[in-house]
Parts: sequence; structure tokens; C-alpha cells
Amino acid sequence: MLDGKKLMKRLGAAASQLRGRLAPDSGMDRVTWLRAGGPAELLFHPLDEDDLQLFLHALPEDVPLTVIGFGSNLLVRDGGLEGAVVRLSAKGFGQQEAVGDNRIVAGAISPDKHIAGFAMDQGIGGFSFLYGIPGSLGGALAMNAGAHGCEIGDRVVEIYGLNRKGEKVTIPREAMRYGDRSARMPDDVIITGALLEGFAKDRAAIREEMEVVRNHRETVQPVQKKTGGSTFRNPDGHAAWRLIDEAGCRGLMIGGAQMSPVNCNSMINLGHASAYDLEYLGETVRERVYNHTGILLEWEIRRLGKYPEGRELYAFVPQELD
Ligand SMILES: Cc1cc2nc3c(=O)[nH]c(=O)nc-3n(C[C@H](O)[C@H](O)[C@H](O)COP(=O)(O)OP(=O)(O)OC[C@H]3O[C@@H](n4cnc5c(N)ncnc54)[C@H](O)[C@@H]3O)c2cc1C
Repeated sequence: MLDGKKLMKRLGAAASQLRGRLAPDSGMDRVTWLRAGGPAELLFHPLDEDDLQLFLHALPEDVPLTVIGFGSNLLVRDGGLEGAVVRLSAKGFGQQEAVGDNRIVAGAISPDKHIAGFAMDQGIGGFSFLYGIPGSLGGALAMNAGAHGCEIGDRVVEIYGLNRKGEKVTIPREAMRYGDRSARMPDDVIITGALLEGFAKDRAAIREEMEVVRNHRETVQPVQKKTGGSTFRNPDGHAAWRLIDEAGCRGLMIGGAQMSPVNCNSMINLGHASAYDLEYLGETVRERVYNHTGILLEWEIRRLGKYPEGRELYAFVPQELD
């Protein structure tokens, strides 16, 4: 049973010293792009690094800790998220600064789109792909977000963060072992910012690239819908959307959830989907694609949290792998 007020009391005197907003039992359906799911037991928006440090020092060790960005790649289950959930506030973690040599220091909650725009203003190339990704820099760094043949892993020099004890850490790019939409994030590190590097490029040329990104988005993605971007990773040598299409799952609907008829690797909440509907739809697609092609799709959307009691969902496992 989640009890945010009780958890808040466990922070002791620090709870009244924190400057950022503490919100017990806070609905994650308002925070995630998929607009579904249960509450976070205790949501905290630190105002700056000192505030976050104070919170981490006060948080008892046994309390689970989750960090989220803009929730554009998250599905929070209907039973909610146990423990503390941190979402950085724009005031302390949303700045960008040019530091010379085509380098930018940016806060972790900087919208990807702002970084692309800032880089253009500075005449720094290599960031236009971020213009079409609706997440934050922290989420991009944790997922190795990418598009149009570029990914953030290619642009990072080092990442700054705080560990669970509230100590400052610097993670060099190599330690992240960036792969296809994946990264080896050290456990329990909250990314607070990063040093990024591009290359000198004419502003007008960057502007053109950004226009191409924008046009592409508007034609191929259900941008206005409640969606979570790509649902599944591309398996080696295959495009996930093609496998889904061939298995007859384009437009497939369960409850209020649908695989988009426009981009069939994106899930849509038609307005009243539960997290259960969305996850059940995803598992159904995995099963159908496997039965049709022998390929087992892997979720790209991160699924977090608990199932409500009596509504557990079991992941599809092919009989021969069971
Ligand atoms: C319409 C649409 C289009 C999309 N297009 C693309 C695309 O082209 N390419 C692409 O790669 N993705 C795409 N996505 C997916 C998503 O936008 C990216 O994965 C994005 O990087 C997630 O960022 P976020 O801030 O929303 O992270 P969240 O969804 O909030 O979190 C994602 C993960 O990052 C972790 N995380 C977030 N912030 C931090 C932090 N500060 N410290 C540590 N960990 C953190 C979370 O714990 C979680 O595991 C799309 C999504 C949508 C809805």
C-alpha cells in the first residue's frame, strides 16, 4: 500500500527545509506522455543541486528511488510507483551554456529541443536530431536517444550527477557503453547535467536540418497523440515496425490502447486506456510477432511500478524458451 504522507514523515526535519515541491501520492498519469498509470508515492521536484542533496541525505536507505524526465518513454503501471520519485525542476537544471570549442554544458532537464535550438544559435552542429525528440537531456543520456542516424552518445564528453548518498559523480562517456537506444547507467545516479560537444557549422545549414527533422516528425509520427514513442527496439537486422505490420498488428486495439495506424511501433492511449491495457497490448504484439516471425521483440518503453493486486500481467515467453 503506497502512503506518501507517511514516507514524507520519514524525511524528518529535512521535509520542511526542502525548497522544491514535495507531492505525496502524485498521479503519474499527469506526468507521462502515455497519460496512464498509478501515483508516485512521493514526488519531489528539487530546485537545485543543494536541494537535491538535502533530499538524498534525508531519504532512508530502504526507500526505492526513481528519477524521471519528461516521461516520454515511460509506462507507469496502475498500482503506482513505490518510494520516492525525483523530477528535476527547470529552474536549477534547465540551463544551457556555451563553454568554447563547440562545447555546451546543459542541465539534465533541458528539453532536447532547446539544446538543438541553443546549438544552432551558437553555430554548433551535430544536435539537430534532438529537435524532434520530446524528452529531456537526462532521459536522452539514460536511453541513448537518437534519430536521423545520430545519437546523444556521440555528442557526450562527460555526465554529471549525484549518487544515492548525495555525492557528486562525473561519468566519462566511455563508462556509459552506449549502444542502440541503450546505455549502462550506474545504479542510483541522478544525472544533473552533461558536457556535450559538437562541431562548427553554419547557422543557416543547421536551421535547414532542423526543418527537415520537423517535417519528418509531422509526417511519420503520431505527434499530437498520447504516445510513448517507439514501443520496441529494432532487433538486429530488422525494423520493429515492419515485423509488427507483417504480423497484422498495425492499428491493433485493446481497451483504450492502440498500435498507431500511422507508425505501428508507437502505442497510443485513445483517451481512457489503463496502463494495463497498454502493457497487455504490447505483450500481445510481442506474442503475435513471435508466432509470425520467430523474433522476440524487446520493449524500448521503460515500464515501472506495481500492478494493482489481482491484476498482474505476465510477460509473453515463447514455450521453447520457458
Ligand atoms: C512522440 C515521441 C517521439 C519520440 N521519438 C524518439 C526518437 O526519435 N528517438 C528516441 O531515441 N526516442 C524517442 N522518443 C522516446 C523518448 O522521447 C526518449 O527516449 C527520451 O530520451 C526520453 O526522455 P525523457 O526525459 O522523457 O525520459 P523519461 O521517459 O522520463 O525516462 C526515460 C528513462 O530515463 C531515465 N532518466 C530520465 N531522466 C534521468 C536523469 N536525470 N537521471 C537519470 N536517469 C534519468 C528514467 O529513469 C527512465 O529510465 C519519442 C517519444 C515520443 C513520445
